Amino acid sequence: MSREAQLRTNLDRVHARIAAAARAAGRDPDEVTLVVVTKYFPASDVQALARLGVAEVGENRHQEAAAKREECDAAGATGLRWHFIGGLQSNKAAAVARWADVVESVDRPKLVTALDRGADQRGRPLDVLLQVSLDPPGRDQRAGADPDDLPALAARVAEAEHLRLRGLMAVAPLGEEPGDAFARLAGIRSSFLAEHPEADVLSAGMSGDLEAAVAAGATHVRVGTAVLGSRPAVQ
Ligand SMILES: *Cc1c(COP(=O)(O)O)cnc(C)c1O
Repeated sequence: MSREAQLRTNLDRVHARIAAAARAAGRDPDEVTLVVVTKYFPASDVQALARLGVAEVGENRHQEAAAKREECDAAGATGLRWHFIGGLQSNKAAAVARWADVVESVDRPKLVTALDRGADQRGRPLDVLLQVSLDPPGRDQRAGADPDDLPALAARVAEAEHLRLRGLMAVAPLGEEPGDAFARLAGIRSSFLAEHPEADVLSAGMSGDLEAAVAAGATHVRVGTAVLGSRPAVQ
């Protein structure tokens, strides 16, 4: 089977899973957007995905993603929306703002300032999601803002001239039922929406837990392995 045929088969399966999960939750499958996570995979795969109708892709490393986007743009795959979903150092934030259409991993005030400066230089607003941590407090290497810090962080983004607050992103912690973690996320989101009703994006769910995320209200699922296969172990 050619790579493109394989990707087509995998995409069909993932779309069917999303549709089934949405219907099971009494939701319209069209409310859920697939973001294909293309990290570690070559630009040729991104171009094949674009030919197969994928509109949104996710990347988690600045240099890899910037180069890949340039290659895809040059090859005419220009209609894609590029999401940055990885951990971000504030000294790289302005550079990410130059190529990303959405930054999903904003979890501290320092990043807001740096992204706003970068977005100013690119001349159009940058969409931003706040990453909220679902880990137990005190766990090492926690990615994401503490839920208690969300209101202040959201206010910072809302005030930033060149950023658009679009919603929330989260990753289910290891060692917990994703359904339980995403139920907590749904609660956090409803308080957040009361303050920011227009910021209604919820990015949650990956290859292994997208059904639980759709049940908890995800509007975007970030799926890598189930579409592209296993990632190379080291790169
Ligand atoms: C890699 C990654 C994904 C995709 O994970 P899969 O299990 O391959 O679907 C989703 N979200 C984030 C934040 C990631 O880093």
